[in-house]
Amino acid sequence: MTEPEHKAGWFGEFGGQYAPETLKEALDELWSAYQRYSEDRGFQSTLSSLLRDYAGRPTPLYFASNLSKKLGGAQIYLKREDLVHGGAHKMNNAVGQALLAKVMGKTRIIAETGAGQHGVATAMAAALLGIKAEIYMGTHDMARQRLNVYRMKLLGAQVHPVESGSKTLKDAINEALRDWITNVRTTYYLLGSVVGPHPYPTIVRDLQSVIGKEIRTQSEKQIGRLPDTIVACVGGGSNAMGTFAPFISNTEVQLVGVQAGGQGLEKGMHAAPLIAGLPGVLQGMRTMVLQDDYGQIQTTHSIAAGLDYSGVGPQHAYLKAIGRAKYETATDEEAVAAFMELCRLEGIIPALESSHAVAYVIKHAPEAPKDSVMVVTLSGRGDKDVESVAAFRGEIL
Ligand SMILES: *Cc1c(COP(=O)(O)O)cnc(C)c1O
Repeated sequence: MTEPEHKAGWFGEFGGQYAPETLKEALDELWSAYQRYSEDRGFQSTLSSLLRDYAGRPTPLYFASNLSKKLGGAQIYLKREDLVHGGAHKMNNAVGQALLAKVMGKTRIIAETGAGQHGVATAMAAALLGIKAEIYMGTHDMARQRLNVYRMKLLGAQVHPVESGSKTLKDAINEALRDWITNVRTTYYLLGSVVGPHPYPTIVRDLQSVIGKEIRTQSEKQIGRLPDTIVACVGGGSNAMGTFAPFISNTEVQLVGVQAGGQGLEKGMHAAPLIAGLPGVLQGMRTMVLQDDYGQIQTTHSIAAGLDYSGVGPQHAYLKAIGRAKYETATDEEAVAAFMELCRLEGIIPALESSHAVAYVIKHAPEAPKDSVMVVTLSGRGDKDVESVAAFRGEIL
């Protein structure tokens, strides 16, 4: 999708390409390759086959009748990205970019990962396409996410422990960038969300737009019209951007993004840059950033590792600025309550990230008319979160 109204890579005053000179050429090469292959029928048909036969698309648009009945208002539908191979929407992006790496003739894929979900999706896609994957991960995160580290290894990826700084995601990003600058000719840097310098926010949005395109077709077929409201959780913002993008020009469809309210906005223990942040430059993009008065990046907190980020994709900052999408928060407590509701009422264990979007629906569906329709993107499944939920509830496994 192009932005006729903007220069490529800019969403109003947000986005751009704040990258070192040494990466400019690689980013340009990526942008031209992407433009070429996004119009290439051979590439697109290979990608569609992989999404269908490997990733398991299309995912169902499921009418949650028990939840709808209990809330007594809007009719609620779940877009089941939890059923995608790997357990989340991340595969849509990983398989698309890994295929791009392959046709660009790159022999090596690097990525960085915090909670490990993006690392696992990248390792899967790289194994599928026969490309070597090397994943950077802070040693603090490696200790917290031992199972994902071992999954990546089983899938044939090499995991590079990062010992510098806070030994978490931001340090892993620094190391991955250092690697890319050194090995730019052979290496593809596979980013996991709609963040970073242009062209990543555009590429990742387009690859995730398969979610929103399917919602359009499915709601026309199943409901006979477009939904009234579409809700998705926002960390970096890729599942939400992929959900929203095909509906941006349908202004009658309300778009709602839900960020991590953590322990509450007043305490500063949250991850909601769209609500409590200020414009700033972070990791190659101008966007809304959680920062103090001196521009220092603030620490974040969320029970959902995938939402625990101090920045957000620039197109979300833009959609908020122009009032096209609305952004709210759900706290840890509300997310866990929503997680429990979906387990008990629908027999679905959702990811804690996705549970934030479900929490919005639980709060707002009761006041909506009975003939209105809300679609929630269930970005992933919650098997990975069972221990966190038990700990939050004070239960010992
Ligand atoms: C990574 C992740 C997210 C957050 O990433 P976005 O780019 O905001 O989509 C949300 N849900 C799940 C299940 C995830 O794994």
